[in-house]
Amino acid sequence: MSWAQVTAIRAGKLVDPEAGTVLSDQTILIRGARIDKVGKGIEIPAGATVVDLSKMAVLPGLIDCHTHLADGARSGDPLNQFKKTGAQIALESVPNARAMLESGFTTVRDVGTYRALGDIALRDAINRGDVVGPRMYVAGAYVTIAGGAGALTGLAPDINLPWDLHYGEANSPWEVRKVVRQLAHDGADHIKVLSSGAVLTHGSNPKSQEFTPEELQAAVDEASHFGLRVEAHAHSPEGIKNAIRAGVASVEHATMIDDEGLALAKQHGTYLDMDIYDEECIQEDGKKGNVPADFLEHDAQLGQIQRENFRKAVAAGEKMSFGTDAGVCAYGTSAKQFAFMVKYGMTPMQAIQAATVNAADLLGRSSELGSIKPGKFADLIAVQGDPLTDIHILENVPFVMKEGKVYKQAQR
Ligand SMILES: [Zn+2]
Repeated sequence: MSWAQVTAIRAGKLVDPEAGTVLSDQTILIRGARIDKVGKGIEIPAGATVVDLSKMAVLPGLIDCHTHLADGARSGDPLNQFKKTGAQIALESVPNARAMLESGFTTVRDVGTYRALGDIALRDAINRGDVVGPRMYVAGAYVTIAGGAGALTGLAPDINLPWDLHYGEANSPWEVRKVVRQLAHDGADHIKVLSSGAVLTHGSNPKSQEFTPEELQAAVDEASHFGLRVEAHAHSPEGIKNAIRAGVASVEHATMIDDEGLALAKQHGTYLDMDIYDEECIQEDGKKGNVPADFLEHDAQLGQIQRENFRKAVAAGEKMSFGTDAGVCAYGTSAKQFAFMVKYGMTPMQAIQAATVNAADLLGRSSELGSIKPGKFADLIAVQGDPLTDIHILENVPFVMKEGKVYKQAQR
């Protein structure tokens, strides 16, 4: 591969979330899609393209572990899915992917779509280079009980849904296994199960539990046969604990996690992926009349509880990843969550680690993602100023590179 394009980046500051340190005056040599060398005073080979970021701070590309990029244009109500064809939903999702990448997120773990397998199509289009977007690891569909948090609810019982709008419905351990097998065959990268009710689902109670422990165990066991990890949506204390005991890799939302849940997560090494920013957007959209009344009612009580429990989880030393539920807030605004993570107990470095090294570990991709080290993908961003003194700086990312290719270089 000696003919691969060589790029040399001069980095004024280089954030190393693996070590939790910031280095200065570093050179990053990139060959093709991967990082070749990093260090001070590295010789730049003749013919290399030089990118001068010597007045900027360079960080690994950010990773959002909870996105929904493939549901089309953002809308407050899942019932809007019925006003669009599958093709419309797919094409409306194209700008979501671009906004995500251009805001500094080079990888996402996309955790479900109402129209099954649309996320797989989007992932593959990005990988082919047909669509601009982050590297996507996708769930394929929601694995959910009938009428559950991942189902399209709010319709009359005599309406028959097309296959792709109820693909992941399962109502026994064996039905769960069947859906997991189908998802593995159809190209999912991980499995999303819904262990409690949801905030943004009609007729749902976030304080409930949905899948039984047996069903959750079936999901984790069956997924493991295909080398896939499982993430569980859970708001209620029992839904959270059932999922952790079943062996999921992460609990999404973890809104009402109690002391026993925190202890179990620590014991099992379960990541908590808590979307503590999106409350702002739900309430803001609610004021504009864009959010159904039952969703606002679910949300009103839970937003602050989740933030206080996030603080407890940080203090308890839990494994924490960065996930925003992107799509609830506008695509491209995920980085606004960093300031909330700092407000609720993290240091700026911990918040950055949640979206880099921890996220890569949760994905099982630490050898390729999460830090700027030889052999890893050349996914990196640069910002003006020091994000460790002002975390808000990450909300405005002027330089984005993914796999050695520059996707954004704002005029400075
Ligand atoms: Zn979600």
